[in-house]
Amino acid sequence: MKRELVCIICPRGCRLSVEGEGENLIVTGNACPKGKQYAIDECTHPVRTVTSIVRVANRVDTMVSVKTAAPIPKEKIFEVMEKIRAAKVDAPVASGTVILSDIYGTEVVATKNID
Ligand code: SF4
Repeated sequence: MKRELVCIICPRGCRLSVEGEGENLIVTGNACPKGKQYAIDECTHPVRTVTSIVRVANRVDTMVSVKTAAPIPKEKIFEVMEKIRAAKVDAPVASGTVILSDIYGTEVVATKNID
């Protein structure tokens, strides 16, 4: 198997090639070790941090920005987005407030203050 990826760890955006199967992956094109680890993770268990917004129930036309506190499995993004879409929170909200818990080993937290 050969896969071509663009590393998204930093703005340099190295073009990575990954060859091999299972535990025996050879990564080329990375300018630093983070790129190698990113490529291996992407081919074996890809994860993403999800960012979105949640409705503030007691404020008209107000949303609070949120994100997962840690990356979640990529294949669970749509399921988590459904939970975020159904969530509501009452103001005041402090940045870091847990909006949803037990989300694939992490939480969805507010990233903004709403007075
Ligand atoms: S391989 Fe290293 S230098 Fe290249 S984009 Fe990834 S993190 Fe940045």
